[in-house]
Amino acid sequence: MPTWSQVRHARIEGMPNTVTAEDEVVDLCRDLIRIDTSNTGDTATSAGERVAAEYVAEKLSEVGLEVTLSESEPTRASVVTRLTGADSSRPALLLHGHLDVVPAQAADWRQPPFAGEITDDGYLWGRGAVDMKDMDAMILALVRQWRRDGWTPPRDIVIAFFADEEAGSTYGAHHLVDTRPELFDGVTEAISEVGGFSVSLDSDRRLYPIQGAEKGIGWMKLTATGRAGHGSFLHEDNAVTTLAEAVARIGRHRFPLQITDTVEAFLRAAAAELGIEVDLDNPELTVDKLGPISRIVGATLRNTANPTMLSAGYKANVIPGKAEAVVDGRFLPGTQEEFERIIDELAGPDVTREWISCQQALEFPFEGALVDAMGAALIAEDPGARPVPYMLSGGTDGKALHRLGIRSYGFAPLKLPADLDFASLFHAVDERVPTEALKFGVRVLRRLVENS
Ligand SMILES: [Zn+2]
Repeated sequence: MPTWSQVRHARIEGMPNTVTAEDEVVDLCRDLIRIDTSNTGDTATSAGERVAAEYVAEKLSEVGLEVTLSESEPTRASVVTRLTGADSSRPALLLHGHLDVVPAQAADWRQPPFAGEITDDGYLWGRGAVDMKDMDAMILALVRQWRRDGWTPPRDIVIAFFADEEAGSTYGAHHLVDTRPELFDGVTEAISEVGGFSVSLDSDRRLYPIQGAEKGIGWMKLTATGRAGHGSFLHEDNAVTTLAEAVARIGRHRFPLQITDTVEAFLRAAAAELGIEVDLDNPELTVDKLGPISRIVGATLRNTANPTMLSAGYKANVIPGKAEAVVDGRFLPGTQEEFERIIDELAGPDVTREWISCQQALEFPFEGALVDAMGAALIAEDPGARPVPYMLSGGTDGKALHRLGIRSYGFAPLKLPADLDFASLFHAVDERVPTEALKFGVRVLRRLVENS
């Protein structure tokens, strides 16, 4: 296997070789934050994705890479490139991120969300600082350094920056998988969000949850129909009443505990580090002691269904003929059928259900050379690191990539201060990332790719 120093050949002509990925990563992240890529779910208001894609494409072209910029709809663009490895017959590794962010309301923030301010305490602020322009910048900085150094990776590395992750990936990863699958030829494994960040146990030890599984998405629309009529009359067939009862039953339902392999491995590892017993019949006791990440882990113990939208009627004295609700359902690997059956039972015979988005749950074995290399890279940069597998309660572009048979792991490494409630920064106000953590991430990812 070639090493970093053996393959310093084919340096890009005229390119200064002194700038390192660690030097660049903060500026790249800051530039990306300053491009407002808010994804409202509506293409008409998502123009920033194309601007960010062009920025990324230019940064890759600058170091001599051939770049594919693919537009699914006007202004919705993704970028893909490939670094040819020393042994292209080996399966390729995909490093990817999404360029879009969820919207931000500036009035709620302590620093403006799209200014990329760096404060005296060493934080870079802005929407996307942790989800996931941090990782985008780390990947970009590393690729640029590899090219400047003329370094050849051991196997092909495919790099992708996707649009539209925050609204279900239709105009980003799913579109590319459907229309340009050849860009991912040979790829078997992928690295992206959400995992690899530290959760402090004490001053010497930090858990690094690595995402090896994610729940399925079941966003559904429920519709009740009834007889329209005058609001003052006796009325037995009111769509609003029928729907409201169904929504209340679903919203109050507690699905049964179901511990998957990944969640069990996480609970056992976390409990061992905390020195507590793990009772798999009563896992909430363990989860409650996990501090800030308990909210993420707690949602991976069972299926969930939260009503999120309601719509019916147009006047106080008119009973409408139809009422609609939206429910955000999330199901564990292997439970989709059972989940649907329970939802339909709760909804009752007078309510119909249709999917807005239904995407598979994923669970990959937490073993093999890549998993070992992720753990080793963390420990090399942080001797107090305790890598553990975990399941994400949300969804990622990994769902789209799995349609090509690609196994995705959430590994965007950040070593964080003990007092930072990192999990609470996702999609939240005052999203920010320590600049030192970005540099740490670059070092870990470099080790990982060198040794994979
Ligand atoms: Zn994300």
